[in-house]
Amino acid sequence: MAEVIALNEFRVQAAEFIRDAIDSGDACPAYGAILPPSLYERAMHWQRFCFEKNWAGVHWPIQYGGMGLNPPHNVVWHEECAVAEVAPYLNLQGLVLAGEAILRSGTEEQKERFLRPTLRNEILWCQLFSEPGAGSDLAGLQTSAVSDGDQFILNGQKVWSSNAQFAQFGILMARTDNNQPKHKGISFFLLDMTLEGIEVRPIKQMTGDSEFCEVFFDDVSIPADCLLGEVNQGWGVAMAVLEDERGGAGSAGVISLRKRLELMANNATALDTVKAERLTRILNRGKALQSLMERRGGDPLIAPVAKLMNSELGYDEAQLNSSLQGADAMLNSTSTENLLYSPGMRIAGGSSEIQRNIIGERILGLPREPQPSE
Ligand SMILES: Cc1cc2nc3c(=O)[nH]c(=O)nc-3n(C[C@H](O)[C@H](O)[C@H](O)COP(=O)(O)OP(=O)(O)OC[C@H]3O[C@@H](n4cnc5c(N)ncnc54)[C@H](O)[C@@H]3O)c2cc1C
Repeated sequence: MAEVIALNEFRVQAAEFIRDAIDSGDACPAYGAILPPSLYERAMHWQRFCFEKNWAGVHWPIQYGGMGLNPPHNVVWHEECAVAEVAPYLNLQGLVLAGEAILRSGTEEQKERFLRPTLRNEILWCQLFSEPGAGSDLAGLQTSAVSDGDQFILNGQKVWSSNAQFAQFGILMARTDNNQPKHKGISFFLLDMTLEGIEVRPIKQMTGDSEFCEVFFDDVSIPADCLLGEVNQGWGVAMAVLEDERGGAGSAGVISLRKRLELMANNATALDTVKAERLTRILNRGKALQSLMERRGGDPLIAPVAKLMNSELGYDEAQLNSSLQGADAMLNSTSTENLLYSPGMRIAGGSSEIQRNIIGERILGLPREPQPSE
């Protein structure tokens, strides 16, 4: 692939590659940020297929297995995947969060070691940030990694770790200095999930699936070369990761949203006044979000607004869709799954309340929330 291929030419090639992969049965249907266990085999195949055909890691350097193109080409890839409704990558945790963090903060050795195997799906990643007592208040995390010569000894517990039951590596935040203020004294590790002392317990969700897990650490020895960035500087590394997580799908998200809204509008026939009004409100909110993302997509200031609008819209859509289907929605259908899944989207990646706080403080300039723990 030539390094300077024009975006429109790249778009044509991407669309053709995806179309052929759908026809040959190699592509995997879109599923969002987290790989659902039911699509594990298909998604693994699709990631490997993309790598082998040189269609993985669009904007990652060629020396690490990527295509060596630019971020706008990656946006085009995501857009074409959204149009065709196929997954743009195996999972967000690896192909975006871990991968971009290593590209930004990794040593040359870490880039060589992790990036190509991630694109080739030999390493599936999970994200080990949240703990039972540290979610919204992530800086309150208690899992400790105590320096001991050329290793760190890890003890503690993580929770809600998506895909941890499949993962070979995890991006981990752990406290390395208890005497520092809570945002300091945290380090960021690339954790080998096969190390002795790690126990992964999948959590059964109300959808019936187990997408996320509890992960326990009991005297796990982490080699010091798995530290990403400097010791005690993990908060900065993690904040960039969270920005990637909340940045969302940008223009590809707009395409998916437009498709969802069109489908809703087309499927809704013979509605009573109350349901027609609910539908109209949702379609209007969807249009507003679409316009916002078209105008300001990629602007970090707008990320919490888009995240809030998107997860609340998804929740209300799921409620309305199920009420349009009536009792059938309680049976096994896509709308049942969406109904049961959508509350989680108001929590994952930062809850709606937290997005409102961020909007209040950073965009509207309101006084800062009281922080009882500080
Ligand atoms: C589907 C899903 C996948 C996830 N995947 C991962 C993963 O892979 N890795 C990972 O590390 N984590 C993951 N998480 C965890 C997620 O990041 C946390 O659930 C989230 O940050 C909220 O933290 P918490 O659950 O501890 O809730 P808490 O922080 O305890 O919050 C409980 C309630 O209080 C509200 N609240 C808290 N603080 C404030 C405040 N200051 N002002 C107003 N309201 C407040 C919250 O909005 C929430 O309603 C996932 C979560 C979900 C739902």
